[in-house]
Amino acid sequence: MKASRLFIPTLKEDPAEAEAISHKLSVRAGLVRQLAAGLYIFLPLGLRVMEKINRIIREEMNAIGAQEISMPVLHPAEVWRQTGRYDQIGPEMFRLQDRGGREMVLGMTHEEIVTWLAARELRSYRDLPQIWYQIQTKLRDEARPKSGVLRTREFVMKDSYSFDTDEEALEESYQLHVSAYERIFTRAGIEFYMVESDPGMMGGATAHEFMAPSPAGEDEVALCPACGYAANVELAQSVPDYPEFPEAGIEEVETPGVRTIAEVSGYLEVEPALLIKSLLVMAGDEPVLVMVRGDQELQETKLARVIGEFRPAQAGEIREATGADAGFIGPVGLELRKIADESLAEGVYVTGANRDGYHLRGVVPGEDFQAELHDIRRVKDGERCRHCNVDLKLERVIEVGNIFKLGTKYSEPLGATYLDESGRERPIVMGSYGIGPARVAAAAIEQQADGKGIVWPAAIAPFQVHLVLVQPGDGAQATMADRLYAELAAAGIEVLYDERDLSPGAKFADADLIGCPVRATIGKRSAAEGAVEVRLRPGGEEQKFPLEEAAEAIAGLLAEPPGDGGIQAGQP
Ligand code: ATP
Ligand code: MG
Repeated sequence: MKASRLFIPTLKEDPAEAEAISHKLSVRAGLVRQLAAGLYIFLPLGLRVMEKINRIIREEMNAIGAQEISMPVLHPAEVWRQTGRYDQIGPEMFRLQDRGGREMVLGMTHEEIVTWLAARELRSYRDLPQIWYQIQTKLRDEARPKSGVLRTREFVMKDSYSFDTDEEALEESYQLHVSAYERIFTRAGIEFYMVESDPGMMGGATAHEFMAPSPAGEDEVALCPACGYAANVELAQSVPDYPEFPEAGIEEVETPGVRTIAEVSGYLEVEPALLIKSLLVMAGDEPVLVMVRGDQELQETKLARVIGEFRPAQAGEIREATGADAGFIGPVGLELRKIADESLAEGVYVTGANRDGYHLRGVVPGEDFQAELHDIRRVKDGERCRHCNVDLKLERVIEVGNIFKLGTKYSEPLGATYLDESGRERPIVMGSYGIGPARVAAAAIEQQADGKGIVWPAAIAPFQVHLVLVQPGDGAQATMADRLYAELAAAGIEVLYDERDLSPGAKFADADLIGCPVRATIGKRSAAEGAVEVRLRPGGEEQKFPLEEAAEAIAGLLAEPPGDGGIQAGQP
């Protein structure tokens, strides 16, 4: 396509308040524009990228036997009431009424609706298995829409759902999705890991996330370089390291105004690992004392799996339960539910004394107080892998997709059953699987951008070749460029042909920003030599090809496998 006829509004300056590279570059390269918080318009280039990603998704979903459907965005609230999620989900769900006063919601996901469908249409074991998917809009009133298209309030998702007779068959559907996802992200050219994840609000027992490493990500994973263990920090486990402990024997010490771990550690001259950090939380009406070591952080999702939903206690509740200010509370002598991180099974610690201005030294868990022990701490860099004792590595990642085993969590309340071979009625066993195509695009930008702009993986680039005609007014150059453009187009290669009457500097800057994998330039030198200058975008050497051979040479470069100087990058 000719650049003079295209709407590609590139910008020299980063948008205000953008931090993520993908946010800055997707606006500057003319892919998207923000309408309001978390609402984006996809411009022609941005939409081309999305459509390429969606095509890869469709091909790979179809390849595992999944069938495309399309469900409405607007749902009757009633269906969401039947699973209980209408009440469980907070302000993230858009709720509204229709003209008849009926309560409706805007779909943030489609488990309820697809299960409603399955309940009516799937009757016998002969109807199973099924995998249905759609690539469709979701709406979520996200608390913090941010980082451009990484977290928006309206976004497109590929969501698929599997329907099986039992857990064993579900495992097969699940593994089919694992293989499809690996192919999708590999073909899209992003680096990714599959990690264990917390099933969270989806319910069910097993879940994995597909994570693209990037500092712009909001998630963090723990990775073992030796055995391949990989888990979201929301549930990642580790072997803690222990400090050297002092002698036991409780002694009360005055610590006036000394509240935080850092203050107590400094005042008493003990390292944070020798302190117990005590937090009071409310699980419903019940106060619970939660303890982690002073050098550790509480992982809230892990605690929630033990005690259910909770919130931090307020100052008044803390005083009522412990008799002290938050800075001086501790487990000794308190009659309430106590949960301690498992690493507190051994050792001798400093804790709050439940008396303002005092702490206790020499406290021995298990002797001076009893607590339920659970893994509730957040994994730290340098803690060791439980499987092979090697140091774990923490990494920031973008969640690009996830897969969940739902079991019968949705089929039971919505009555999605089937008759088995003996004619017995049984609930359908389900799985749910999501991908965020916009996050795939953003992850590709994050992972591969260079100092000048985007560097697209070939498979999802808006165009494969950016052809720059340096001086459109020069007849010789223009004839050469027109010919190459026609030949590339005839070879089925998508070309962005920049024949605009702009300064060469402006055109090269746009090409750098837009990031097509191959740049072909025809300028004064080419006209003199009859040659085309070709450069692979990620810092490739410039090569020259005679005009007659250029189209074929470029096609060859685009077809080369990864690692051989070609550009179909992508590794798992
Ligand atoms: P997150 O933890 O990032 O909020 P999620 O667990 O809510 O994601 P799902 O509801 O399972 O995600 O959605 C499936 C996929 O949809 C995610 O893996 C992600 O790629 C994408 N996605 C989810 N929320 C958003 C959003 N607000 N904007 C863009 N993409 C999203
Ligand atoms: Mg979410």
